[in-house]
Amino acid sequence: MKAYDVAAIRAQFPILTRPWEPPLIYLDNAASTQQPACVIEAVADYHRGQHANIHRAVHRLSQTATLLYEQARERVARFINAQEPAECIFTRGTTESINLVAASWGRANLKPGDEILLSTLEHHSNIVPWQMVAEATGAHIRVISIDDSGELDLDAFRRLLSKRTRILAITQVSNALGTVNPVAELIAEAHAAGALVLIDGAQWVAHGPTDVQALDADFYVFSGHKLYGPTGIGVLYGKRRWLESMSPYQGGGDMIERVSFEQTLYADLPNRFEAGTPHIAGAIGLGVAIDWLSGIGFAAISAHEEGLVGAAVTRLAEVPGLVIQGRPRQRAGVVSWVMVDPPIATLDIGAALDLRGICIRTGHHCCQPLMDRLGISSTARASFALYNQLAEVEALAAALQEIREKAIRGPRQAEHRHLGGFFEDAGETPALPETPIAFPPASAGSVQAAADGIIEEFDLLPDWPARYQYLIDLGERLPPMPEPLKTEANTVRGCQSQVWLVARLRPGTVDIVEFLADSDVALVRGLIALLLRLYVGQRAQEIIGFDIRSFFNRLGLDQHLSLSRRNGLEAMVARLHEFARTLGR
Ligand SMILES: *Cc1c(COP(=O)(O)O)cnc(C)c1O
Repeated sequence: MKAYDVAAIRAQFPILTRPWEPPLIYLDNAASTQQPACVIEAVADYHRGQHANIHRAVHRLSQTATLLYEQARERVARFINAQEPAECIFTRGTTESINLVAASWGRANLKPGDEILLSTLEHHSNIVPWQMVAEATGAHIRVISIDDSGELDLDAFRRLLSKRTRILAITQVSNALGTVNPVAELIAEAHAAGALVLIDGAQWVAHGPTDVQALDADFYVFSGHKLYGPTGIGVLYGKRRWLESMSPYQGGGDMIERVSFEQTLYADLPNRFEAGTPHIAGAIGLGVAIDWLSGIGFAAISAHEEGLVGAAVTRLAEVPGLVIQGRPRQRAGVVSWVMVDPPIATLDIGAALDLRGICIRTGHHCCQPLMDRLGISSTARASFALYNQLAEVEALAAALQEIREKAIRGPRQAEHRHLGGFFEDAGETPALPETPIAFPPASAGSVQAAADGIIEEFDLLPDWPARYQYLIDLGERLPPMPEPLKTEANTVRGCQSQVWLVARLRPGTVDIVEFLADSDVALVRGLIALLLRLYVGQRAQEIIGFDIRSFFNRLGLDQHLSLSRRNGLEAMVARLHEFARTLGR
């Protein structure tokens, strides 16, 4: 085996060779991988000179497009060692593949009392479709627990397995912890109990060889965009005898043999599951990605990636106060952690790493049941691909050390004197006996005037790091919410972080809104400070009428902080609007 040349691999990825400032360290590969030039070019070439609809015309373009599309299917079949290409259905991705099986196989085969076996490690994509079919059929979902190292409890698996088990749907690799499940063993035991098995291969296929026949998997699903291919394309592999027994998931063109208004004859595999015009370019791109990856070879890739992941576990464990989540014996691609001493919210870790050019993922990773099991709401996750290098692991560890030291030094003295004294006297509002809470004073003028003031200040800040620091500084000066107010009722739902908000009518007025809010995330505290400055002491009607989306776009925050559930801003605004509307009635 020749030496693995990571520099030569990196050189094939246009996004990695651009002059980023700060240099780009992309460690969010479990969410989506980047694409090599050969994939980008194949997709572009197709659009430039080969595009037409497939399967339907005799003209040359359609013939070429059909050929390329079907060649891609052959490449997929070879890649996972399917018995024949027709067993490989192109879908939009893992999510659609699982939904297809749950809806088509599940609705036809499950009856009341039947059991669907899942595990605590599953992605929401491998939970929700089964819940939907369980609801529709009266089947039950049973869940295989994990132990403290983040591995499946095989005894629990064996206890749960019974004649009632109709299907085991389980991930090969946990996208949140990196645990590699012993799928061959699971499949053999499930088969012995008479159950079918669907393997979610989304986090495996880019990291090691897949042989669906050797595994004897009944269904195997994955996405192109985690395999160096395009988004919007994925695969459902199924054994011919199961796929043939299933009715189509969607009706339409290309999936029929003959249609009349009395009766429709469905097409043979794979077309019966590919209604409508598929993502032709995506399939072609995926085929090229697969060939490219196979050219490098999994022996070399796994050796390189295991080195990276091993180093990441070692180096991160050396950061004091950092706790790695899950210690599985076999791990693929992923390391997850939280900072507990001092506690730093994962969203703040993600934002602080982003300022240093390091892209990781923070949140629940679409695995809320797993987060519940771990007793946390989110983790910070670094995930590795074949183009990552040891220097990037070192940079991550060093950045985490630095972020921790900064947090220990404590809130720095705010440097932005021009912010004015908005929060300075916040604590001095006379406390009313019935509401012993100090609300910030009203800002002068209208919401628009407050917005203009903020925009003026933002325009003085040259770039995102400066604006980020400005928000952090604002957050540091936010008066903390008294602990007794941090109740369940005051918790804002739909945020990945802890956010509390209490709104009230200003005493002695009929429509003036006051509120307090707080969060365990420094960045969210900054957003709260902005909201307070905009809204406190304003009339309900003005708050409802103000276009906050445009305001955030105008601030130039939208690239970094979308008005989304990620940071809770949208949920806070919704709650304030709701409160303002009750005043209007
Ligand atoms: C990403 C992922 C999914 C969902 O994949 P999509 O491409 O979003 O459909 C499902 N399961 C696992 C384990 C994943 O990592």
